[in-house]
Amino acid sequence: MKKFQRRDFIKTASVAAVAASACGLVSCNKKEETKTVAINTNKKYEWKMVTSWPPKFPILGEYAQKIADWIDQMSGGRLKIQVYGGGELVPALEVFDAVSFGVSEMGHSAPYYWAGKAPANQFFSTIPFGMNPRQMNAWLFFGGGLEIWRELYADFNLYPFPSGNTGGQMGGWFNKEISSINDLKGLKIRMPGLGGKVITKAGATSVLSPGGESYTNLERGVIDALEWIGPYHDYLMGFYKISQYYYYPGWHETSSNLELVVNRDAYMELPEDLKAIIDTAAKASNPLIQSAFDAKNTEYYYKLKDEENVEFRQYPEDVLQRLNKLTSDVVNDIVQKDPMSKKAFDSYTKFRKRIDSWFEISETEYV
Ligand code: CA
Repeated sequence: MKKFQRRDFIKTASVAAVAASACGLVSCNKKEETKTVAINTNKKYEWKMVTSWPPKFPILGEYAQKIADWIDQMSGGRLKIQVYGGGELVPALEVFDAVSFGVSEMGHSAPYYWAGKAPANQFFSTIPFGMNPRQMNAWLFFGGGLEIWRELYADFNLYPFPSGNTGGQMGGWFNKEISSINDLKGLKIRMPGLGGKVITKAGATSVLSPGGESYTNLERGVIDALEWIGPYHDYLMGFYKISQYYYYPGWHETSSNLELVVNRDAYMELPEDLKAIIDTAAKASNPLIQSAFDAKNTEYYYKLKDEENVEFRQYPEDVLQRLNKLTSDVVNDIVQKDPMSKKAFDSYTKFRKRIDSWFEISETEYV
């Protein structure tokens, strides 16, 4: 599908006001004029939120619903949002288009699913061997990341908010031991994002499928291996029943930032209090989703290990080093061709170098 051009349909008169508010309620270096919409407490909004998660999916679907509930409560019922699981209103991997074109005003998903729309999108989920979730949030909120993300999404008539992080993920389910990089050759692996491109360089084939279809795909041999999230969700999906080895670390997703994404026109037309309510709900979801992942993954790590006797395997050091080198190649290819990817990656890298040094003395030494 061709890249969405907001100028195709936005009335000229409103463009200046809309563009001027690109930074919204977060701190922003750009000088901006805020388009102020008077608060009319009689006006009620009924919105939809489409998600990439199976209906009522633990943590992700639950928090999508909580966000809708909080917004309803904080707005005194003036903004009601009906939440849809993936496939209920639109397919799981069409959230971006659905919100962009206003089929739904809101979506909950992950930016790396939209690499096909703009390569830079994936830098706002995660980069293999990249920052951890706290560092990622620090970059997004205080290191200029969110500004670049909003600039990128504005081309698609979208307005994104960070909305949770899965934390470091697991390295995937395999029925074959990975002793050397050559063991990845020829395997069809469900792995989205930049990680998927890295394993492609290693000779595997990356398959992007919604989590809900992955069990059947693995069982039927459509794919040979898969990564999904971590112990909690992977347990619920039952992957341990059809796989032998559970590899770590999740080198490809050291921190996967999730998104609450809003149709930009719909957002900009809201009165200021409702904008602030959405912003606050997204911010509340951010640490809670991360904490829920951390707590549940701990619980289910023990369940898989002690009750299901899953074989946890560590990727050999030389395999990780090779994958790390391939990551640099993949990222360099992308940033050389796409200025927006370069802008995002340069900002990410600059911030990362500095925060890594800080974490080295503040956190790593302690651990
Ligand atoms: Ca994953």
